[in-house]
Amino acid sequence: IFILYALFIIFRRLSKDFAWARFYFISWVPFLAGAAIQPLVLLNYVDSTFITRNAFLFAVMIEITFMAFALAERMRRNEQDRIHDISYHDFTRLPRKSMLENAMNEMKISGKNDFCVLIIKPEHIEQISLYIDDKANAALFKRLSRRLSSLFIHNDAIVKLSSNHEKICFLENNCLAIIVNNEKNQQDLPVLIKSIQQLTSETFQIDDLKLPLSAVIGVANHPEHGSANYLLINHAQLAVNDAQLVYGRWAYYQSEKSDHTSYLLKLATDLKEAIENDTLAIYHQPQIDLKTLRVCSSECLIRWEHPREGFISPDIFIPLAEDLGLINQLTLWVIKRALAQHQQILVNNNHMVSINISGKDIAHEHFFTNALSIIEESGIAADKIILELTESASISHNKQSLELIQKLGDLGFTISIDDFGTGYSSMAQISHLPFQELKVDRLFVENVNDDHKRKTIAEATVKMAKGLGLEVVAEGINSQEDEDTLRSFGCDIGQGYYYAKPMPIDDYLDWLASQNNGRTQKRVDLDGEFIPADKI
Ligand code: C2E
Ligand code: MG
Ligand code: MG
Repeated sequence: IFILYALFIIFRRLSKDFAWARFYFISWVPFLAGAAIQPLVLLNYVDSTFITRNAFLFAVMIEITFMAFALAERMRRNEQDRIHDISYHDFTRLPRKSMLENAMNEMKISGKNDFCVLIIKPEHIEQISLYIDDKANAALFKRLSRRLSSLFIHNDAIVKLSSNHEKICFLENNCLAIIVNNEKNQQDLPVLIKSIQQLTSETFQIDDLKLPLSAVIGVANHPEHGSANYLLINHAQLAVNDAQLVYGRWAYYQSEKSDHTSYLLKLATDLKEAIENDTLAIYHQPQIDLKTLRVCSSECLIRWEHPREGFISPDIFIPLAEDLGLINQLTLWVIKRALAQHQQILVNNNHMVSINISGKDIAHEHFFTNALSIIEESGIAADKIILELTESASISHNKQSLELIQKLGDLGFTISIDDFGTGYSSMAQISHLPFQELKVDRLFVENVNDDHKRKTIAEATVKMAKGLGLEVVAEGINSQEDEDTLRSFGCDIGQGYYYAKPMPIDDYLDWLASQNNGRTQKRVDLDGEFIPADKI
């Protein structure tokens, strides 16, 4: 009885956890029986027949058959586990994107084409997930999906993703997704969305932390917003971004925006081609010493004449190049060209060259070494080169970039902070950057006298920078009044359409030659002979 009970326990356990192992286990029974029968035949306890005489042989054959079953079952189980692992997210145990896609395929195959994908994103989840570990993150999504399941379980319009009635999919970027069959959806979509938002807008407790959560929802309709699965999902994701900006916290995908995205992608491809084919141009805009009115340097500004689109502003393609990783290549091209053209300027003039460097350039060590070798090849000394940094705040937060800027300063380059006063470049943020020059953004300079607030900001900025021992450049000087006002504040250098617009190198050389012995034609009667020590 005890042995039978033990066998029963073992069998039960095996059938539960290792179903395949029970075949191994069973295979031993005929083997043992066969092994027992044969001696019994020899001792004449059992009749000698064909079967009993060959009992051991038969037992081995049965055992092999069971073993084969066991092996097949084991392989089937492994395959099932593998598919399960691929289909379900590790921590949340929720269906993954592949199951969402399968369900979408099934909808399409069965002719149910009127459906939409809804992506539900807990607001601020990117930030929240930085403070919690994977397990807590998964717990949050498990709870969220449990709540939503209670809403979806009796709603036939929400498409099942598996035979287990699962309806919610977990996307790797911390979002949940569902498919809604529009034909079956009795209520309006906004009503369904409202109830999802209500269910998810409660406080979630993670460990001891109580988090107020709310959901933003993006919707993409099939086939209107894309027929390929990946497109629908991506478009619903894009709609989530828009949803964050609207009052109702949900949005449909807007195709015009995507047209814009693909336009920009095409533009980036053309830009890369233009860099490689050398079809970009560099324009020069003079910078004037406000004390002596001498031209003390020129800023090199990139120009792109697109073969079909015409002139495209750097304000459009520079951020694009930064986003798509083309900026290093672009800036190296600019440095090479700008320095070659500067050699031409140096034949009859003695001034510095100012080149724009993006914050995204500085983060790369290889950019630094490549730039230095191009500069070395050009033969132009570092103390004749000004590097204008845009997005200087992001540089000041990156240790490696900061070190590279320091090295550039040590090598003798003048580091200039561009567009000061706009964007993120506040004094607090750039105060640890080693720089010598500050360019006050043209927003505060152009027609400075027309606006009292602008004038006050310009004055305070220039005085503060001078107090810190910096050289100050005013961009966007448009008139004699602008120049006079900025000079009265203590500004050293002016740049703007009042003196000259940016121009190609040949025009610039002519322009320089037409100036009065290196001074601009404007107001030559100005007294004062001061020339900043590190200029000219
Ligand atoms: P930025 O470096 O602040 O360049 C000055 C911009 O102001 C130039 O525009 C110039 O044409 C314009 N400007 C100059 N004087 C006046 C004026 O009196 N009034 C007005 N309204 N505008 C004036 P641009 O050439 O369109 O360049 C725009 C921005 O694109 C630049 O701003 C710079 O941030 C970026 N950029 C241009 N070339 C390059 C480059 O080679 N590399 C990088 N990384 N950025 C560049
Ligand atoms: Mg600049
Ligand atoms: Mg600027």
